[in-house]
Amino acid sequence: LVSNKWKVNPTVIDLGDGVIIGGDELAIMSGPCSIEGEEQIADTIDFLKSQGVKIMRGGVYKPRSSPYSFRGLGIDGLKLWYKMAKEAGLKIITEVMQVSQIEEMYDYVDIYQVGARNTQNFNLLDELGKVDKAVMIKRGISGTIDELLYSAEYVFSGGNEKLLLCERGIRTYEKASRNTFDINAIPILKEKTHLPVIADPSHGIGIRKHVGEVAMASVIAGADGVIFESHSCPEKAYSDGQQTLDFKESEKLVKAMRETHKLR
Ligand code: PEP
Ligand code: MN
Repeated sequence: LVSNKWKVNPTVIDLGDGVIIGGDELAIMSGPCSIEGEEQIADTIDFLKSQGVKIMRGGVYKPRSSPYSFRGLGIDGLKLWYKMAKEAGLKIITEVMQVSQIEEMYDYVDIYQVGARNTQNFNLLDELGKVDKAVMIKRGISGTIDELLYSAEYVFSGGNEKLLLCERGIRTYEKASRNTFDINAIPILKEKTHLPVIADPSHGIGIRKHVGEVAMASVIAGADGVIFESHSCPEKAYSDGQQTLDFKESEKLVKAMRETHKLR
C-alpha cells in the first residue's frame, strides 16, 4: 500500500493551519533533542517563529542508552509544551515509545514519532494504524529500507495514511561518525513509495559542525523535509548537545536549505 505502484500521486499531509508536508514546500522541523522546561521551550518557539519554521521537535519520552541519563519530562512536559506551542501557532512532533502512551499524548501532538529503536515494534505500529493523527517512522538502527517500508505498511494497512518516513542513519562498522547517514535511502525511498521522506542529519552524523552539510545533501537528494536538533545553548542541552545547532547556525542552515530547495 505504501508503494508507488499502488498509488502514483505523492502523499501530502495536511496538519491544519496551512502546515503541509509533502507538497511543494520543504518541511522543516527543528527543536531540542529533549524538552527541558519552560524557558527552553519559550526560547525555541521564539527562534522557530522568527524563521517561519512551523513544526517543533522535542522528546518528552527519551529512549536513552543508559537508564541513568535524562529520560524526559513525560506527559506533564508535553502538556506545558503543547500549551505554549499552540499559542505560538506551532505544530509538535514528539516520540511515542509505547502503546499505553498513544492515548494520553493524543490531544497534545500533531505527529507521533516512532524512534529508531521502535521501528519494528509491531504492536506500537498496529495501534498507530488506528489513530487519526500523523505518524513519522524512523529507520531502524540496523534496519534495511525494505524493513522501514514494511513498518510503514503496518500503519498504513491499519487505516492511517498520514505517514512520513525518516532516514536517520544506520549502524555500520564506521566509527568516525555516530551513525552512517544513508543518503542513498532518500532517492530510493522516493522511487519506491508515495510517502513523504524526511532526513534527520543530526542523528545521521552526530557531529554538530557537519550537520548542515548532511542536511544540504539531503535536500539535493530529494528529501521532502529535514528534521534537525537546535538549542539556544547546545553545550547545556540535556541530551545530544554534540549534534545540536545553536540558533545562529540553525538560521544559516534554514536559509540555505530553502534556497537550495527552490533550485530543485
Ligand atoms: C530523537 O529524534 O531524538 C531520537 C531519539 O532519534 P532516533 O530514534 O533516530 O535515535
Ligand atoms: Mn536526539
